[in-house]
Amino acid sequence: MKTISILGSTGSIGTQTLEVVRATGDFTVSALTAGSNIDLLEQQMREFHPAMAAVMQEEKAEELRERTRDLGIPVYAGMDGLLAAATEPSADMVVTAVVGMIGIRPTLKAIEAGKDIALANKETLVTAGHLVMEAAREKGVCIYPVDSEHSAVFQSLKQEDHSKISRILLTASGGPFRGRTLGELEKVQVEDALKHPNWSMGAKITIDSSTMVNKALEVIEARWLFDVDFDQIEVVVQPQSVIHSMVEFVDGGIMAQLGTPDMKLPIQYALYEGKRNYLGGDRLDFAALGQITFEAPDMETFCGLKLGYEAGRQGGSVPTVFNAANEFAVARFLERKIGYLDIVRMIEDALSVHKRIAHPDLEAILETEAETYRYLESRWCR
Ligand code: NAD
Ligand code: MG
Repeated sequence: MKTISILGSTGSIGTQTLEVVRATGDFTVSALTAGSNIDLLEQQMREFHPAMAAVMQEEKAEELRERTRDLGIPVYAGMDGLLAAATEPSADMVVTAVVGMIGIRPTLKAIEAGKDIALANKETLVTAGHLVMEAAREKGVCIYPVDSEHSAVFQSLKQEDHSKISRILLTASGGPFRGRTLGELEKVQVEDALKHPNWSMGAKITIDSSTMVNKALEVIEARWLFDVDFDQIEVVVQPQSVIHSMVEFVDGGIMAQLGTPDMKLPIQYALYEGKRNYLGGDRLDFAALGQITFEAPDMETFCGLKLGYEAGRQGGSVPTVFNAANEFAVARFLERKIGYLDIVRMIEDALSVHKRIAHPDLEAILETEAETYRYLESRWCR
């Protein structure tokens, strides 16, 4: 039986990971963590009996400790708690399902401790991809993608020679605002942006999908996971979200992975280290589907995608600014403090003043994040 720790177990990916654990009976759970949702974390502790749990907010951790005294499971708090969960000795694999750059330190610690990683937390690879991939190589640990596009690429590369990749074709649904003009986007409200046509996900990634910043983050994520140049990564809009991504090889042959939009498949594929196992749920009905259509992304209206490509190409600390500015802006948009198009304006603003660091270490990445936050706070939040 394999043992896993889940960082961010109360979120969309975290709860679906636990659904897979429940359905297969092939995994035990060593650590569970939440940001603040202690009601759900308590239920999860009672069902899965982890060796430890952690909550980001100190007061919530104390409350959970009181409530779960009968279980005898230690409950830790803050970043120390997250790091303890990432390195919990009995775990073979750590599922990184927290949202945002907060995942960098626990991911690096988990790798240092020799744990394989099922990686959902793309912001960590976007900002610290060079550190994560190098640490993984040194430690000989595997990083299994959970993001559906990257899992599709991983599946398409099975038994293929990576040096024969010609292009990675990352598919995108285009989000709820595909086909809209900038004038129409100016009026978008939080409720509109939270309605994704095909996938049900956490709030931050749902907003990112609507701006196509999510696809930009995924382009950078693919660069690190599959060690390809940005020129080899192309985004193709495929609105039905049936083709989860494709790989073209030097002979022009293309391998693709298709299926219904269900994150449990990539989650399960990662937990089983790239092996197939039964998974219930809907199957694709091609006759009912009728057609699969394709178009090029509109990088002028959805310029977050273009900015992300540019940030990725510049590399060093620039993707950190792109990501941190986006995290900051999306949080403000969700609090209704800025307009929808201000998200990309803030990213552009932060990028325009940044002095690039070529090879940022962990400290420089976290300082770049803090600096980006301070800058945007002073310019946009007074
Ligand atoms: P979510 O918001 O539903 O869940 C996030 C989890 O992290 C929750 O358990 C939350 O309590 C915890 N958390 C939030 N802020 C925290 C903080 N500051 N400190 C510690 N813990 C914190 O998010 P999600 O949709 O599950 O996404 C998680 C990650 O997976 C993201 O990086 C996202 O881009 C990626 N991802 C998600 C999906 C999806 O279908 N949801 C698909 C692909 C990739
Ligand atoms: Mg994705």
